[in-house]
Amino acid sequence: MSTNQELLARRQAAVPRGVSSATGIFAAKADNAELWDVEGKRYIDFAGGIGVLNSGHRHPKVMAAVQEQLERFTHSCFQVAPYEPYVALAEKLNRLAPCPAPNKTIFLTTGAEAIENAVKIARAATKRPAVIAFAGGFHGRTLLTLALTGKVDPYKRGFGPFPSDIYHVPYPNRLHGIEPKHSLQALEFLFKADVEAARVAAILIEPVQGEGGFYIAPFDFMRELRRICDEHGILLIVDEIQCGFGRTGKMFAVEHSGIQADLVTVAKSLAAGLPLSAVVGRAAVMDAVDPGGLGGTYGGNPVACAAGLAVLKVFEEERLLERSVKIGEHIIHRLSELAARNRFSCIGEVRGLGGMVAIELVEDRASNKPAAALTKRWAEICARNGLILLTCGVYGNVARILVPLTASDALIDEGFAILEHSLEEAIEG
Ligand code: PMP
Repeated sequence: MSTNQELLARRQAAVPRGVSSATGIFAAKADNAELWDVEGKRYIDFAGGIGVLNSGHRHPKVMAAVQEQLERFTHSCFQVAPYEPYVALAEKLNRLAPCPAPNKTIFLTTGAEAIENAVKIARAATKRPAVIAFAGGFHGRTLLTLALTGKVDPYKRGFGPFPSDIYHVPYPNRLHGIEPKHSLQALEFLFKADVEAARVAAILIEPVQGEGGFYIAPFDFMRELRRICDEHGILLIVDEIQCGFGRTGKMFAVEHSGIQADLVTVAKSLAAGLPLSAVVGRAAVMDAVDPGGLGGTYGGNPVACAAGLAVLKVFEEERLLERSVKIGEHIIHRLSELAARNRFSCIGEVRGLGGMVAIELVEDRASNKPAAALTKRWAEICARNGLILLTCGVYGNVARILVPLTASDALIDEGFAILEHSLEEAIEG
């Protein structure tokens, strides 16, 4: 068996630098919220493959559903010979979606593809071109989704020109001085300076930013956005690719604000690691595209759809939404205790919605200056000590917790202990 070092050397020779990895851990196997590397070292997984494993690695029920589908067929292409798992999962998502019924669903393969399709559908339905997104938002790496992504480094640099008629306004972020009213003002200015509201097809927002730093859009801000969309005939697209699928204690994060969206994009934890994404939305909007206008060879792969159906069963049977709330409360409580101690004065903020929890590190609380190098060092030390912890944030100073919601309290506490002493090590330098 190769070592991590040997594999790293081979990887560096065979794979371009542009695909970076957060750790040098080469995975050999995983189970629920634990992962083992090729050298047999065990890790507690607080990353969940970037929010893909809300129902854990290899849940037995998901594995059984996948195996059963593998025995039947792995691909027929929905556009050639359709199949029931696709339709059944669409029916379930249509009922769950935070959109006014009746709803329809199309399945795709990646998050970026879901966003691409949501924009296509919104343009077809409104016959308008423009899309407004938010600074700090992340929507994917294809050229249209990169245009929508609101972060230059490392995503956008060098890849332009981007598709036109995409605009950005600031995402509300009180910690960094952006009040909701500033974002709304920017939107108003945008309508005056750059694009009239009547040319805007959609406003695209993550109710909780993922890669951007787990900042939570205030619920009254979301309601105001809904009102503005209604006033101007603009569609509201919520990107729930990272914050959805139970992460925040509700199936979709937008539900916290009590509003409904026109279209929702879903991926990641939808199929527990099998590549599957979806656009769910109002039937009248979804049906705006003529036959043949949407699709893709692999979109809604039958094995992935079977996994998605099993994931939903696990959510129900194991009450994962309630579990998400409990996990979030527990972790925030423990983090707040840490933050209250003098030696952890680098903890600038602890925030979360359900089990979507973040810790923001600063040089000191008075200056609120982001401590990106410390955050990076912390994550590296965590990995050395057996915990996979991811960073994020427009300033690179946020650690995010995306532990599977199926993890036991004991495992979460074990991971938390590593997180704590690794932060001490990181502070000591
Ligand atoms: N939107 C959000 C909110 C995401 O977090 C991501 C992935 N991190 C994407 C879109 C893109 O998904 P994918 O990488 O599957 O294309």
